[in-house]
Amino acid sequence: MMKIWWIRRDLRLNDNQALAAAAGLGDPVLPLYILDPVFWRRGRVPKKRGAFLLSGLRSLDESLRLRGSRLIVRTGNPREVLAGLVAETGASAIYAEQDFTPYARRRDAGVANRLPLHLVAGLTVFPPSEVLKSDGTPYTVFTPFSKKWRALSPPVHADLLKVPGFIPIPDTVTTERIPGSPLESQPVLFPAGESEAERRLNEFVRERIYTYADNRNRPDLDATSGLSPYLRFGMLSARQAVVQARKAIFDAPDDAGAKSADVWLNELIWREFFHSILYHFPKVRRESFRSAFRDIPWGNDPADIEAWRSGMTGYPFVDAAMRQLKATGWMHNRARMVVASFLVKDLTVDWREGERWFMQQLVDGDVAANNGGWQWSAGTGTDAAPYFRIFNPVTQSKKFDPDGTYIRRWIPELSDVPKRFIHEPWKMPMEIQVESGCTIGADYPEPIIDHKWARERALDTYNAVR
Ligand code: FAD
Repeated sequence: MMKIWWIRRDLRLNDNQALAAAAGLGDPVLPLYILDPVFWRRGRVPKKRGAFLLSGLRSLDESLRLRGSRLIVRTGNPREVLAGLVAETGASAIYAEQDFTPYARRRDAGVANRLPLHLVAGLTVFPPSEVLKSDGTPYTVFTPFSKKWRALSPPVHADLLKVPGFIPIPDTVTTERIPGSPLESQPVLFPAGESEAERRLNEFVRERIYTYADNRNRPDLDATSGLSPYLRFGMLSARQAVVQARKAIFDAPDDAGAKSADVWLNELIWREFFHSILYHFPKVRRESFRSAFRDIPWGNDPADIEAWRSGMTGYPFVDAAMRQLKATGWMHNRARMVVASFLVKDLTVDWREGERWFMQQLVDGDVAANNGGWQWSAGTGTDAAPYFRIFNPVTQSKKFDPDGTYIRRWIPELSDVPKRFIHEPWKMPMEIQVESGCTIGADYPEPIIDHKWARERALDTYNAVR
């Protein structure tokens, strides 16, 4: 009997539990991607993430064709599209990878009400319902969550699923063309597809994983894996990443290398933690996890928000990061923490404004990780930075971009500013401004706010409501 493999954010053939379940008995499989109008209505899918996804679908279609199959694309309400295809093909079951956003859960419940939908694991290594305290309640603090996660015997290489060599498909089923995106023709930082994801993972675990612990906070270096967009769309399974991390720990040249690889594994567990938080506490999607902080009187000054978005705050580290985001759809993790702290604490802008902007810009934009990152930075989340921890954008800049390389890469106006002023260009005497071709207030802005003053204001604001 025919099965439908309903692809959502698992754009891969390797280690795909939904595909394996659908193809289990050698029955024909219909690989289906639905362009859901909830997302694809005019302008609602952010350009960069949309282009990455569409290109990922093309790459998946090519891989399927090598196995005698092809991708079927249909536009419409998922319940109606699926009901139509079941009627058209006589498919006996639909298999899909479980997703944990509130929308995905509502959608899937609606489909399962009428059709034989089977949800299988794969978005995370352990489904959120499996990593629980001994009393059956969810964790809200990362360290005990990670201990429990590690105790659940994480996967080894043998657990990974192989791609079936041949995936039969009925040739009567028609497909729409995968839509094009104007951005797809431009050179991209993240070429989509499963083979690129595997190439990046293999390259990372060969060497850089062993210096990750020392270098991961340096946005001027290429020290992290750059895998987030691939994990976001399942071009790589979480299990594949974890298996390689554990293998790298085992193969490490020394203790320091093993510890470094373990730090990377820990980041993958943070990813699982935030998926678990969203699953167990869907309200975080709309409001602060900590109820005391729901009443913060945010300033939300439109001019401040615009300066932050466009990288014109006058703080070079913040501006470099915001321009990197706009240009590439990606931002380094340390920079994400600093710009988030700056928006929320220095400018007293509601963290949800920043969360929204990131979701519009990020290729790896993921509801769980993004919400987790913003609530962590704002001090409003589960296992969050304490509210009184306010990053100093200059100190962070000096520590994590010591030579100003990252700043110069993204802010050409500052490229000739001497190293001793690169983190605080407003301190340049006039003759140095002239020499470096950068007049503060004309070529590059004065800081839009005094950090010391803003810090006190943030502390007063938080203290008043807590
Ligand atoms: P690596 O350092 O190589 O880490 C490996 C993988 O672990 C990442 O690809 C990612 O899947 C996961 N990971 C790493 N750090 C975290 C973390 N703190 N939380 C959850 N998962 C993590 N990550 C997203 O994938 N999507 C987002 O929308 C997102 N928004 C964020 C917003 C804020 C305000 C902050 C502070 C962090 C956010 N992150 C998000 C987490 C993190 O910044 C990115 O995952 C990381 O920078 C991606 O780069 P990488 O793949 O080189 O990471």
